[in-house]
Amino acid sequence: MRGKRQVRGIARELLDTIIEASRSSHPHEFAALLRATDGVIDELLLVPGTTSNETSARLLLDNMPLDLSVVGSVHSHPVHDLRYSDEDLDMFGAKGVYNIIVVYPYRRHDWVCYDPQGERITLPVIGPEES
Ligand code: ZN
Repeated sequence: MRGKRQVRGIARELLDTIIEASRSSHPHEFAALLRATDGVIDELLLVPGTTSNETSARLLLDNMPLDLSVVGSVHSHPVHDLRYSDEDLDMFGAKGVYNIIVVYPYRRHDWVCYDPQGERITLPVIGPEES
């Protein structure tokens, strides 16, 4: 079942994919929407026009598809700054419950998850090699 109810965590494999995509996009931002299956965030939904652009958050917000399987968003910061911008917060509120920010230098722990109000929330990583 898809949907935002009862999300238990994010798949390790997808998190690794996100981190790799963020690294590849550097020094530009990477941005995408998150989808969940059976309570696990396991898929990216790429929104046209949002990659390799420093205003990813805004474009993501403007181009969001109506998709009930979307449970949140992810975007990268090319600097080591886990804080969200005003635009980020607008986006968090517009879509989904889980909003991940990945930051430079894109190590496995260089990310944080926010709820729509901008509060940090714990998002368990599910899968092998948990660290
Ligand atoms: Zn941001």
